[in-house]
Amino acid sequence: MTSPTTAPTAPETWDAVVVGGGVAGLAAALMLGRARRRVLVLDAGAPRNRFTAHMHGVLGRDGTSPARLLADGRDEVASYGGVVRTAEVTDARADESSVVVTTADGATHRGRHLVVATGLRDELPAVEGLARFWGRGVAHCPYCDGYEVRDQRLVVLGNGPASVGQAQLIRQWSERLTYVVHDAPAPTPEERAALEARGIVVEAGRAVRAEAGPGPDGERLAALVLDDGRTLEVDAVFTAPRPRLGDDLLLRLGAERADGGTGPGGALPGAVPVDMLGRTSVPRVWAAGNVVAAYANVPVAIAAGTMAGAGVNHALVEEEVAAAVAATRSAVA
Ligand SMILES: Cc1cc2nc3c(=O)[nH]c(=O)nc-3n(C[C@H](O)[C@H](O)[C@H](O)COP(=O)(O)OP(=O)(O)OC[C@H]3O[C@@H](n4cnc5c(N)ncnc54)[C@H](O)[C@@H]3O)c2cc1C
Repeated sequence: MTSPTTAPTAPETWDAVVVGGGVAGLAAALMLGRARRRVLVLDAGAPRNRFTAHMHGVLGRDGTSPARLLADGRDEVASYGGVVRTAEVTDARADESSVVVTTADGATHRGRHLVVATGLRDELPAVEGLARFWGRGVAHCPYCDGYEVRDQRLVVLGNGPASVGQAQLIRQWSERLTYVVHDAPAPTPEERAALEARGIVVEAGRAVRAEAGPGPDGERLAALVLDDGRTLEVDAVFTAPRPRLGDDLLLRLGAERADGGTGPGGALPGAVPVDMLGRTSVPRVWAAGNVVAAYANVPVAIAAGTMAGAGVNHALVEEEVAAAVAATRSAVA
């Protein structure tokens, strides 16, 4: 006899649909699969770190290619019955008991809960030739890429008020550092003095072009041309791209971005707030990873997805307890 706590779900209704099959989405799906939930992952196949061949700072997988990690993650999800499909989700609607997503080919998928793990897009400073070196010579995160260029000729390309701080941070990896102010506010006299006190050369102008040179695997970033015509020879450029959160589906579902954000110390203005488990303000809708936390690296995104997967399972258990109790009461009445 089927117990009310395990009432069969309609075959077309998944326990959870996960949109985004990067590390956050796959981690959520892994938890759900291991909790014996029917989970569907829909993934457009463009993870944020696809531009780089190796990832770092990921305990146990340091130096692994991001593509390898995701392939392993998809296999792990599939081994517990999870289904991962390549598809772009273009719309999502929630009702009282489920969430329905629509993919670009017009198909719809219904889930009792939805996890949005759609990441973000990095908008680089507009410098000719810079984007082709993104992830291989141009980077944002020194914990990801700093060690590999330690002691080399580095540039921090200013892109906002936090850029002076980024230059002071990058100085930890090399003494041969130039700060090109570019799109950042001009450093105050105190900031300039602090930069120079640590041997950081300050260039007040803008970068106009990134140039290539011969490298071990074909072309590599070799120089930045400044607006006064001078050329800086460089081994790597660090900058802070503007994060464009991929939260359209969350906003469509009625979530709102908060001023304070969810980053450490509220450091991420403009993100949809989530609780520790990734629960948004919209019933049945959860979010994890870069889509709500631009600061999250791979381990942090995995942790957030893990929490969201467990959170969804707990919410499902609560619903099933309530349904079982109601069914028992009506049987007795
Ligand atoms: C160049 C670079 C190098 C990096 N190196 C490191 C490193 O060395 N170590 C480290 O820890 N971190 C690194 N990171 C950070 C890392 O990329 C992120 O922490 C991680 O990708 C966040 O995972 P996520 O699952 O939140 O998002 P993502 O990995 O971006 O995954 C989101 C997924 O959702 C999909 N998607 C988006 N919208 C839709 C939609 N509408 N429908 C269906 N699917 C959708 C995307 O195609 C993508 O596959 C690097 C980032 C960059 C840019």
